[in-house]
Amino acid sequence: MDTGSPMLRATNIDSLSRETFDVLVLGAGINGAVSAAALAAKGAKVALIDRGDFAGFTSQESSNLAWGGIKYMESFELWLVRKLCKSRNLLLRSYPSSVREIRFYTAHERGFRHGLFKLFLGTWLYWIIGSFFTRIPRLLSRRVMAREEPLINLDGCDGGIEYSDAYLVDNDARFVWGFVRAALDRGARAANYVESLGARREGDAWVTRARDVLSGRELAIRSRVLVNACGPFVDAHNALTGQRTGHRHIFSKGIHLIVDRLTPSRRVLTFFADDGRLFFVIPMGPRTCIGTTDTRVESPRAEVTPEDRRFVLSNINKRLALPRPLTEADIIAERCGVRPLAVRDGGGGGEDWLQLSRKHAIEIDRAGRHVSIFGGKLTDCINVGEEICAAAEELGVALPRPGERWYGEPGEEVRRAFLERARALDLDALAPPRATEKLSERLWRRYGAQALGMLEEIRRDRRMADALIEGVDDLRCEVAHAARAEMVAKLEDFLRRRTRIALLLRREELARSPGLREACRILFGDEADQRLAEYFEQPGERAPAEGAAPVAAPPVE
Ligand SMILES: Cc1cc2nc3c(=O)[nH]c(=O)nc-3n(C[C@H](O)[C@H](O)[C@H](O)COP(=O)(O)OP(=O)(O)OC[C@H]3O[C@@H](n4cnc5c(N)ncnc54)[C@H](O)[C@@H]3O)c2cc1C
Repeated sequence: MDTGSPMLRATNIDSLSRETFDVLVLGAGINGAVSAAALAAKGAKVALIDRGDFAGFTSQESSNLAWGGIKYMESFELWLVRKLCKSRNLLLRSYPSSVREIRFYTAHERGFRHGLFKLFLGTWLYWIIGSFFTRIPRLLSRRVMAREEPLINLDGCDGGIEYSDAYLVDNDARFVWGFVRAALDRGARAANYVESLGARREGDAWVTRARDVLSGRELAIRSRVLVNACGPFVDAHNALTGQRTGHRHIFSKGIHLIVDRLTPSRRVLTFFADDGRLFFVIPMGPRTCIGTTDTRVESPRAEVTPEDRRFVLSNINKRLALPRPLTEADIIAERCGVRPLAVRDGGGGGEDWLQLSRKHAIEIDRAGRHVSIFGGKLTDCINVGEEICAAAEELGVALPRPGERWYGEPGEEVRRAFLERARALDLDALAPPRATEKLSERLWRRYGAQALGMLEEIRRDRRMADALIEGVDDLRCEVAHAARAEMVAKLEDFLRRRTRIALLLRREELARSPGLREACRILFGDEADQRLAEYFEQPGERAPAEGAAPVAAPPVE
């Protein structure tokens, strides 16, 4: 059986080798995805490739926060804070369902390098710099904290503060996918698992030698402009094309551990860890995500080490009043990524590591018609998209629709039409017994206008509203939609990035799940067995304990 995703991918790869593009974007993390979405909406002919899955590298490992950079207040980078706050506010305005305000509940330990009242004034300044866009900060007494968040261990604490920032409700990778989808909808040719092996100038065009990682087939992609959005691999790719840049990357590793939900409150609990850095307990649906760390590493390919695990667990156990301390056995899944930090060439050695700024830099080679994107944040993604459009225009790419809006959820009218039809169908009453949210909210947030088609499927067959995999909310119609329209090539693409199932369930639970086997049949048809086996052969987000046997997947009946 041929499902939609392989066909969509194959058609796009075919176009990549036959057409000439205004711009080829290399790398489909957040920077590449917004570049493609913005350029395509404004009328450029765009191609986008990634050697792994969309958002399959750094952009799936973040803390899922859209934040104004409160920590940069300490280094007085107020203009950066202002810029990030504006970016955060723009995301909050443009994505009212999928980027939401969240309260940060911060415990203050006596003897910390800044006093409690000074920190409180800092949050006020942060709020003012953020144009009063969020709810007002609060100063918290120990008594109030004990009542409102009994999970926090108040020993050594003289109170706390509460302020607001924002978070990505469905995780970073799904957020990135939204931009890839938007680029595809505007005519961009995008394909995952297509690697650039290097590029050279031929006449006034770039010819990129690429390889379909899944079939091994090589192809040449022609474009007038090349955008290198390879994240931590920007320097490596520039070396392949002979690009010389004023910036380069250094890497900071950060990890998160996912455990069962620790507190029913929907706040981010914030602490200062033993190394003085901000440290979060972040809600993730029915689970809690704890992190992160900040360790300088030499290679972009990092993994969670036993020391990382110990650091996170010991810090959290000290700061929470848990019935029993968290141990490694409580870890459901792990995330690990490197932040690509942009430094001016020659820099990055002597500076205070933790104070290194996290702003992005875009370098344009006019003669070579080449653009490199260094650093960046999910929070700042709309600016990156706009800056790449300006860079492309500077390099001679015509953008016939310069003012076109390329981001944001569909307008109020579409939403109202969706909600009316959902009500007529009594959609929310169909929610599975243990659903963690209303179905109408979930479908609208994740699929926007495409959710209307799902309502029609549910109207025709109520089983399409069944939760397919035990323990998570994802519906049968969502799996069918992913199979048709979300370019799922491997099971991991679906479990880890189009959804966050791999972060919410243990691998052992997944391996036992009959629902997963049905999902595989929907996603991969005749190849279901092979894709399932492939997934469980790979080391997971959470490496099995030493000496444990690999998880075996039962065959698809
Ligand atoms: C632990 C951690 C926490 C973070 N928390 C936050 C947060 O809360 N909020 C926030 O705003 N930011 C956060 N960030 C920062 C943010 O996640 C990153 O800055 C951002 O995801 C980087 O995106 P990118 O597109 O540059 O890189 P990536 O996402 O790595 O994308 C680059 C892509 O290029 C592809 N590629 C590489 N070489 C090739 C090639 N030769 N051919 C084709 N493709 C190629 C890779 O496969 C990859 O998918 C965090 C980062 C980390 C590590």
